[in-house]
Amino acid sequence: MNDKSKTFIHGLSREQLAEACAGLGQPQYRARQIWRWLYHHYADSFSVMKNIPGQLRVQLEKHFLITPFEAVQRQDERGIGSIAKVLLRLHDGECVEMVFIPARGKTTLCVSSQVGCKYKCAFCASGQGGFRRNLETGEIVSEVVYAARNLGSAPGHVVFMGIGEPFDNYDNILAATRIINDIEGLSVGARKITISTCGIIPGIERLAGEKLQVELSVSLHAPDDVLRSRLMPINKIYPLADLLAACRRYAELTGRIITFEYTLIKDVNDSKEQAHQLAGLLGKIHCRVNLIMLSAVAEYDGRAPSAEAGRMFVNTLDRARINATIRVSKGGNINAACGQLRNLASQR
Ligand code: SF4
Repeated sequence: MNDKSKTFIHGLSREQLAEACAGLGQPQYRARQIWRWLYHHYADSFSVMKNIPGQLRVQLEKHFLITPFEAVQRQDERGIGSIAKVLLRLHDGECVEMVFIPARGKTTLCVSSQVGCKYKCAFCASGQGGFRRNLETGEIVSEVVYAARNLGSAPGHVVFMGIGEPFDNYDNILAATRIINDIEGLSVGARKITISTCGIIPGIERLAGEKLQVELSVSLHAPDDVLRSRLMPINKIYPLADLLAACRRYAELTGRIITFEYTLIKDVNDSKEQAHQLAGLLGKIHCRVNLIMLSAVAEYDGRAPSAEAGRMFVNTLDRARINATIRVSKGGNINAACGQLRNLASQR
């Protein structure tokens, strides 16, 4: 687990695995066999690969890492469909989290993209501890493989909404997305993969050119620059007008609908006037809005609005013909707001 000279095997695309096998003097069918062990059987060691000759398994062990982390803690929330949050300790001792969210017979897996985060959004536990490092492609893919091993099949939906800002680790996220999406592997449909950003415009622009069918989700949380800069300091670099212009270009270029995330905070961003302001901003963008009731974190002194205030907000958007839905943040009782479990672990 600690050997830095080894390559994360889940970081290799199918073609790269074939090249690596060729480099070891192996025929192409060996790469296909190993790929199947990795992504059809979710193997967690080379020793289980019984149709691979023993000598090659020793070589694979020498060159590649197949388990880049261990699950050190799991929290389950009873009563809302077995939401589970898992704390993963990485090979260098750092920790990240992943969350299993069951819905309508399928599981959505929320994965982390970085250890910590630079962006310090006011109500997010992940940003409070600062940034440590990017996750490697293989570590990100391994999160999904770990989930598949536990679920018995690949998760129905993968969302990059765990710890970290995906566009701050763009190349690794994109490489991981392509591996997760590989039809001969985990085969999670591109439309079932959501990349969520706090509003990094260069990332949105790059993604628009990728010709990928993935979903893009952008966190807004406020309808004006003053409040948004207070809640999300990234707004000082990429203010609302520029961000929304980039979103409009993205939607026009890709023909895809953008999801805007808006966390409702009592007496901060939940008034009728702010709902009207938000509707005014989004009116010309092909989008939907996810309204999320704030999940309490120790690091932020804010509360969720009443259900009635939430309904008023969604109705105001509805009347302005903005497609909006409201949801209660699941997993609040298990520290499932992003970064909370990791913060607790680092305090021990
Ligand atoms: S909400 Fe996202 S971008 Fe903001 S601090 Fe948390 S992880 Fe970082």
